[in-house]
Amino acid sequence: MSFSSVLGQDRAIKRLRALITTGRVPPAMIFHGPPGTGKFLAALEFAKALNCSHTIHREKPPAPQQPDPDDLFAASVPASAPPPEPEPRPGTEEEHADRSDSCGKCLSCLQAASGAHPDIRVVDTAMQAALLDEDESSNLKIDTLREMTRWAQQKAMLSPWKVFIVRDAQAMVTAAQNAILKTLEEPPPGTIVILTVSRKTSLLSTILSRSCLIEFSPLPRAALEKVLAAQGAGPEQAAAIAALGAGSLEKAAEASAFLKRVSALRPGDPARAFKFAAGLPRDSHKARDEVKTLLDLVLARARAAWEAAEGQSKARLTVLLRRTLGLRAMAERNVSYLLLLETALLESERAGIKLEDLLRPER
Ligand SMILES: [Zn+2]
Repeated sequence: MSFSSVLGQDRAIKRLRALITTGRVPPAMIFHGPPGTGKFLAALEFAKALNCSHTIHREKPPAPQQPDPDDLFAASVPASAPPPEPEPRPGTEEEHADRSDSCGKCLSCLQAASGAHPDIRVVDTAMQAALLDEDESSNLKIDTLREMTRWAQQKAMLSPWKVFIVRDAQAMVTAAQNAILKTLEEPPPGTIVILTVSRKTSLLSTILSRSCLIEFSPLPRAALEKVLAAQGAGPEQAAAIAALGAGSLEKAAEASAFLKRVSALRPGDPARAFKFAAGLPRDSHKARDEVKTLLDLVLARARAAWEAAEGQSKARLTVLLRRTLGLRAMAERNVSYLLLLETALLESERAGIKLEDLLRPER
């Protein structure tokens, strides 16, 4: 994989490549944009490209074993010839000539691809759980970020750059954000910190002002379809999910789960809304995200229907829009997401918008 694996973000990738080519890489960077648009993948590819040595890594073939005359079993083991050195393929040199992207073949690239690069570290809530030996939390704590600043002081193990990627950096509590300020301001030589974040306003202004901002836009529908197809969706399914995905792979994954849940329900079942809502994830953060996505779908449908409606049904849709906006605001608070979703689905059905309508892609 290389930058070519990041789809639909040509502008951001062009900037990153230019930074690598000029060698003037800012020590603090913020990749910001909607969730599910390739920020983290781009950060990994950027780190990989920075540390790529552009020389093919070949394991030394094992020395051929000489049969031991005293070994009784030696005869039964066929003397295996070392694998022949692969011939360099034509065109290989050309691939390596691109210094603004990773080669995928050097030791550094191989380590990065396996997630075991000693100088590329991902800081996220999963890593935090392992570090602090506790359950995964939704926040990134001060202890975790302090640990990162300690690592930042250490020398790189084998690469020109030591890269820290703080994934979903909006999860950092304020104290944690304050803890990395100094590292962002006076980074040890060869250290780069990349924060990926869906809303840059969730970061302290002192962090924003010290960092180079790289913007990621919602994915074009074609790029989203391509990714979904690569994940195994059929062309029709990929198109339907991409239409609901609002430029985000994360939203597309949610839409795909919604479609599956709806298709499992019996048509005409009066308890459909309840049964559908019962499929909400247990994790309250995930449940809230899903409910927000569904409320957005209700709002989009209701607005479209409102435009075309007249008389009584227009009045009904006006009420629905007002009510749904109220529920959308409530979803930001700590409420029963299940109850909220049930209410929204029932009210939308009453106004003539069925569950299936919500998930029918707009043309
Ligand atoms: Zn490489």
